[in-house]
Amino acid sequence: MYHTIYPLFNGSFSIFLKSAHFMDNIHCFAFLVVDEAGEPVLVDTGFDPKRIPSVHTSSNQTEEQKIKAAIKKLGFAPAQIKEVILTHIHWDHTAGMLDFPQARFYIQADEFRGLFQLNPNEETYFSPSHWLPLLSKIELIQGNREIKPGLKVIQNGGHTSGHQLVEVQTKSGPVYIIGDSPFNYDLLWSKIPPENWQSFREGVGKKFYWEEGVWETINIWVKERGCSGPVQGRAIPWPEIKNWGSRLLIAHDARLLKVDCID
Ligand SMILES: [Zn+2]
Repeated sequence: MYHTIYPLFNGSFSIFLKSAHFMDNIHCFAFLVVDEAGEPVLVDTGFDPKRIPSVHTSSNQTEEQKIKAAIKKLGFAPAQIKEVILTHIHWDHTAGMLDFPQARFYIQADEFRGLFQLNPNEETYFSPSHWLPLLSKIELIQGNREIKPGLKVIQNGGHTSGHQLVEVQTKSGPVYIIGDSPFNYDLLWSKIPPENWQSFREGVGKKFYWEEGVWETINIWVKERGCSGPVQGRAIPWPEIKNWGSRLLIAHDARLLKVDCID
């Protein structure tokens, strides 16, 4: 089964971690993957400008750049989205999940196991409020899995414990939606002093996202699903993924602004 991939531009944001450390004008994309029968699968769901962690943040996102609106523009009703793959659950990939309450969400079990072994302050990179009401709709995947013919998730870890990329068969060969795979936080953690990450807590991050009882809820849920314990999956090193060809779609690559579709 062949597919066509539509990049959905979700706007851009800037984040400041105290003085010199910042990410400036980060473009954010989700992807709609449509098969030959016209069935859509959504990959990632974007960010919410009102819920960016840290202080001194800024963003640009128009109404029509919200994922729900971008899907409508392509001729799909949000209710038609029955399957959503999350490359990982950082806050800039999960904000639109609640717009698709009828969908099934495919997320690696290791992504949740990893929440229990984060670096200091790293929990502010996650927004449980985006997905806590949807726990019953989340399907936990362990490793690689074919979602449907021509569409497969591959766990590659690295950026987060349970990061997964999506292999999509198109008429002209495989394309990989690789989320945030090129960005390795180990490097950031070693380059930026942990106390600077504290500014994430001073913004909306900590107090807004991680309300009382959230850890307990997640803990009980992963246990019920038989997925508690340490991270299990193997990370695929970025240099290896880079060799998979030139058709690697990165979630924050501004060059995608010029791309209508890939097939
Ligand atoms: Zn990320």
